[in-house]
Amino acid sequence: MTKAMINLVSDTVTRPDKGMLEFMMQASVGDDVFGEDPTVNELQQKIATMFGKEAALFCPSGTMTNQIAIKIHTHPLDELICDIDSHVYQSETGGYAFHSGVAVNLIQGMNGKITAEEISSAVKPGFDWQPISRLVVLENTCNKGGGSYYSLDEVQDISTVCHDKNLALHLDGARLFNALVETGEDTHAWGKSFDTISVCMSKGLGAPVGSLLIGSFEQIRQARRLRKVMGGGMRQAGYLAAACIYALNHNIDRLKTDNARARQAGELLATLPYVKSVKPTFTNIVIFTLQDDIKDHYFLEKLKAKGILAAPFGGNTIRFVYHLDISEQMAESALKELPSVL
Ligand SMILES: *Cc1c(COP(=O)(O)O)cnc(C)c1O
Repeated sequence: MTKAMINLVSDTVTRPDKGMLEFMMQASVGDDVFGEDPTVNELQQKIATMFGKEAALFCPSGTMTNQIAIKIHTHPLDELICDIDSHVYQSETGGYAFHSGVAVNLIQGMNGKITAEEISSAVKPGFDWQPISRLVVLENTCNKGGGSYYSLDEVQDISTVCHDKNLALHLDGARLFNALVETGEDTHAWGKSFDTISVCMSKGLGAPVGSLLIGSFEQIRQARRLRKVMGGGMRQAGYLAAACIYALNHNIDRLKTDNARARQAGELLATLPYVKSVKPTFTNIVIFTLQDDIKDHYFLEKLKAKGILAAPFGGNTIRFVYHLDISEQMAESALKELPSVL
């Protein structure tokens, strides 16, 4: 048997394990467009309760949950405020303009994070010739920020500014649990700080498909209509929802392991001659820049020859993401191979 590749391209590459597959197979299902899939309903209730919110909606992707949230909170000719590296700006095909007809007001934050002060001074006064500042989107953890995360204190300060300035606050929490296992902060307190929260089940949590949008009864009622018009109404989606329930029950605490492995890799990379710099490693993501004379594709080929796959991340930068399909042995093997890649 050939040795399995160590795939650090993304935490989306995980495959359901035996326990998850068995749990999926025994799910009770119904037609979720009619709201009659008991397993989808159970998942939505479970995550809403976790964050102390009224309701939630199961969607095919985190792009859809973010896009629905933007649409709920804005009208055409409004703007949303976010960091320049955020997923809603960089990686959702410009959907904020397409679906919601809104502009973006970009802040150059620090490692993907923006502050209450920066938000406060970004808000426009609302002259006729300006878009109306209506929504702030935070990302946690920040993907392009190297997996950095906000503290609850920082989030509460931002929430206060949003409240004072009449702005809605949405959290793109694709990897929220990677942060919460580090801080141990209370999910209810996080729920309270945001109007809506999106959480991905198909990243580090290891479910094959799906994200949840969490909010009030009224927001989720609107979200159901928007999911339908985007073509995201699913029928017997309970098989997929079962995987998410399993992931929430089994795969949250172990995210600490992914975070620790990423930290170890980051520390090692910082000592290697082919590496120019490494972003601080906060959670399960390691972003590093190669020396100027080393091309990223050349490096990735050499890395692949050592059995390791990774993603080019713009310029001469490479991203590693640790996840539950990286075994102890694979993580150790990667640490052993990295010094001799170039
Ligand atoms: C992955 C991701 C999403 C959602 O992506 P989908 O692939 O559409 O599920 C949203 N925000 C961030 C920060 C992400 O990393």
